[in-house]
Amino acid sequence: MRIDLAGRAVLITGAASGIGLACARAFLAEGARVGLVDRNTPPVLDGDVFAVRADVTDEPDLADGVAAVARHFGGLDVVVGCAGISGPVGRPLAETSADEVAAVLAVNVTGQILVVKHALPWLAKDPSVVLLGSDSAFTAAPGMVPYCASKGAVVALTRALAVELPGVRVNCVCPSVVDTPMARGDLGSILDAPGFPVQAADDVARQVLFLASPASRPINGQAVLADFGMSAR
Ligand code: NAD
Repeated sequence: MRIDLAGRAVLITGAASGIGLACARAFLAEGARVGLVDRNTPPVLDGDVFAVRADVTDEPDLADGVAAVARHFGGLDVVVGCAGISGPVGRPLAETSADEVAAVLAVNVTGQILVVKHALPWLAKDPSVVLLGSDSAFTAAPGMVPYCASKGAVVALTRALAVELPGVRVNCVCPSVVDTPMARGDLGSILDAPGFPVQAADDVARQVLFLASPASRPINGQAVLADFGMSAR
């Protein structure tokens, strides 16, 4: 299969850690040019990289960050929305505040919409947008109401953007637990339990690469559920 991403200009939010960072490395390995957008400073990466600090919940800040990356590369071919937070995972609903719910939705939902909005004027021919959803959009666990709600919204906004934006492919990947700092923070050593179904950030990066590439050309408005078949039981 030809991934064919050499020379493509790729903007990744949440690129300083976990899945976003793995995506940055994977795109660079394919010869792409990669813009890293995160509220934190990413590690130094080899290749054609341009990094900006921006918060996806702060629209003027994000708009400036997206424009800086797009100007640097002379346009954008691919946008990957990885910035996300898990919020008050494991906390009963009765102890979850409106501010905590709003904070999760601001990053995971509004942030995803805004990065696409501000990338639009810079998109080149046949662009692809890949957003990070989660299997939490489809299968719930206790203590995750804000996060599950936010990821359900990512699936819905993926479809809405695909319909709203002719000529722009928009898909989301919905992985189950991925071994990243976020999951380590929420689940700790459960990830190391024998037989626990966990995937690596590099696994997700390959799913993102496929959806970003011409190899997935007919796929649009879809949520790709990558959960080892757990939701099929
Ligand atoms: P992570 O915490 O390792 O990385 C998230 C990155 O997003 C960080 O670099 C962080 O600084 C950045 N970020 C957070 N809020 C931001 C903001 N307001 N503005 C700019 N950057 C911001 O987490 P991860 O596990 O790599 O998660 C990446 C995405 O994948 C998230 O959307 C997450 O919900 C999703 N996801 C994760 C898992 C998992 O098990 N780790 C499973 C399914 C989906």
